[in-house]
Amino acid sequence: HESSYKQTSPTPRYNAKDLAKERAKRSGAALVLGSATPDIATYYQSINTNRVMLLPERFGAKDMAKVSVIDMKQEYGRGNKGVFSRALRQALERNLKEKKQSILLINRRGFSTYTFCDSCGYTAECKKCSIPLILHKTNNRLRCHYCNYEQSIFTSCPKCGSDTVRYYGMGTQKVEEEFKREFPHATSARLDSDTMSKKNAHISVIKEFEQGKIDVLIGTQMIAKGLDIPNVTLVGVLMSDSLFNMP
Ligand SMILES: [Zn+2]
Ligand SMILES: [Zn+2]
Repeated sequence: HESSYKQTSPTPRYNAKDLAKERAKRSGAALVLGSATPDIATYYQSINTNRVMLLPERFGAKDMAKVSVIDMKQEYGRGNKGVFSRALRQALERNLKEKKQSILLINRRGFSTYTFCDSCGYTAECKKCSIPLILHKTNNRLRCHYCNYEQSIFTSCPKCGSDTVRYYGMGTQKVEEEFKREFPHATSARLDSDTMSKKNAHISVIKEFEQGKIDVLIGTQMIAKGLDIPNVTLVGVLMSDSLFNMP
């Protein structure tokens, strides 16, 4: 799966995968679709037509990475109200001490994920798209991630007038802020489509990370693929279950 294969605007609207299929058909070529994370439709079709080759082992017969799933409800119950679980915090500390590098993945950009009034239940939505507006701390504005509509943050609730408007949920900016607060001596960088507005900005960040100049890279799924850095020995996936609720 990779959403950038599909272009909806500007025209021509097309899916590069279907295009490749059609071209292969017309020219009689063989088409191989390779992916560590195939989209569910392609995977289903391939399994049903028996045209799939599974590679269950890692290249070079390396062991699979050890995975621990941590229930943040229990962390919260034990008084940890932060972004990181205690296990992740310890693992980050250990990696920083041993000069190893880490990646923190959170598939939401911006600071919070929704804006809510604690008194009356008002939620800030984009008038055009009816989706929650996301707080961006870099310019302290609320932004719609579909149409890029922006407005200033609220000093009071537009519905009931009270000053109980809160910003809930977390995105890359919040994780970055918390990380800097908890690990003030570590070097970190954030990589998401907001930090990429400058041309080639992400290439220089990746280069610095490869050269070991950055201890921890924080970003969206943009950093989840294609990186092969032997000194990266820890990946923290934050709020992984929120991925099931993505539109
Ligand atoms: Zn209100
Ligand atoms: Zn919108």
